[in-house]
Amino acid sequence: ESAVLSRIGLAGLAVMGQNLALNVAEKGFPISVYNRTPSKVDETVSRAAAEGNLPLTGHHSPRDFVLSLSRPRSVVILVKAGAPVDQTIATLSEFLEPGDAIVDGGNEWYENTERRMRETAARGILYLGMGVSGGEEGARNGPSLMPGGSLKAYQNIQDILSKVAAQVDDGPCVTYIGEGGSGNFVKMVHNGIEYGDMQLISEAYDVLKTVGGLSNQELADIFAEWNRGELESFLIEITADIFKVRDEHGEGELVDKILDKTGMKGTGKWTVQQAAELSIAAPTIAASLDGRFLSGLKDERVNAASILDQAGLETSTLRSVDKKRLIDDVRQALYASKICSYAQGMNLIRAKSEEKGWNLNLGELARIWKGGCIIRARFLDRIKKAYERNRGLPNLIVDPEFAREMVQRQGAWRRVVGLAIESGISTPGMCASLSYFDTYRRARLPANLVQAQRDLFGAHTYERIDRPGSFHTEWTKLA
Ligand code: NAP
Repeated sequence: ESAVLSRIGLAGLAVMGQNLALNVAEKGFPISVYNRTPSKVDETVSRAAAEGNLPLTGHHSPRDFVLSLSRPRSVVILVKAGAPVDQTIATLSEFLEPGDAIVDGGNEWYENTERRMRETAARGILYLGMGVSGGEEGARNGPSLMPGGSLKAYQNIQDILSKVAAQVDDGPCVTYIGEGGSGNFVKMVHNGIEYGDMQLISEAYDVLKTVGGLSNQELADIFAEWNRGELESFLIEITADIFKVRDEHGEGELVDKILDKTGMKGTGKWTVQQAAELSIAAPTIAASLDGRFLSGLKDERVNAASILDQAGLETSTLRSVDKKRLIDDVRQALYASKICSYAQGMNLIRAKSEEKGWNLNLGELARIWKGGCIIRARFLDRIKKAYERNRGLPNLIVDPEFAREMVQRQGAWRRVVGLAIESGISTPGMCASLSYFDTYRRARLPANLVQAQRDLFGAHTYERIDRPGSFHTEWTKLA
């Protein structure tokens, strides 16, 4: 038995767990690690040794692992979400004592976290559901952390989390999110926003390539240039890099050889389901999810392409584009579309916060997303400031600064979407964002007609614009 106890433990040593454990150790906090399959423990121990004798100790037995921690104990779990988390908790909690804490760092469904909170609380064990974003690189060098649940459990490891998280100009990318499963919920919406960003970027690529005829080299240059301006973000940066990578197995760039079928793990779908549950319009995020569904129908699309390709399409537009102008228009369309997507995600978080009484601080969420995570971007600082100016801001797009930018960009945005539609290039994310904008900014919508129809066939009644009360009309008698 070693006399020196570790400050924290980490169970689950796949990509995320291994890298986060090394990050913690590198910041000088002694850490114990455990994994169901022992070889990953040994692997992590070797890496810690190779990376400069980091204070990390491996354990093959769950009992030794738990007993190697100083009390109150904090154990981070990073295993596959769902049943594996329950199994890991069962394995470890046998040795945990009241006052100890479990911190699930996985992409867990927030209601699972709330159930586990109730279960562990019955035995005096504290619980945190902590969203971790940034992938492998983030886990190793500084992720964005979204811990929610027991405030006490958070405070026990606050010093560690603050050091381990990505650091930006206004602090570490971690904050106590709120009670219950709020940390998991916020991470889920982060991923939904990430789906939206990736879809919008892929549409910008499609328009530039297919309508504008840009080469991969030109695309790499354009995205690198965009990354020096208002679009500066991790996803734009990696996109520029992707276009430069040559195919090791043939001619040209690798990107052109990749099968156009998108994978997914569920957080985007949950985001859209939650938006529907809460009656929050999230059309850009929904469009990105639909985009992934449709991408999966490769064989059907290949077949449809031969049946429907170019049928009745006016192709003359393809020859008449001004490349320089198109590039600038697409940049603006991308930016404006992105703002609408973030507005949707933020409003979803706010609606859930109100439903659950979480009292979440949207400006602070934008702040901890400025670094470490996949959606990190320069403009998140501006989102943070928008919510600081007005905590009750009903929608990002009516913040005075964003509103000005949206109005400035709408011409370019409409040109890009119009050109894409004429050319038969689908831009579902940009279209969804533009429709969201055009619907939200209109004082009067054709919903009056829908109300009339509902009243006609279902006697659902309607309100009038000129006097109070609810009304029903015998429409067919009057027609
Ligand atoms: P993963 O592939 O999701 O899970 C593998 C880990 O889960 C291994 O340690 C595995 O142990 C363990 N595991 C699976 N079933 C188990 C069971 N029944 N009992 C005990 N352990 C079990 O790993 P990951 O990619 O590192 O992700 C971990 C969590 O972080 C997930 O919730 C994931 O969604 C989330 N996340 C991942 C990323 C990413 O970029 N990968 C980014 C953010 C968040 P064995 O070695 O014994 O099989």
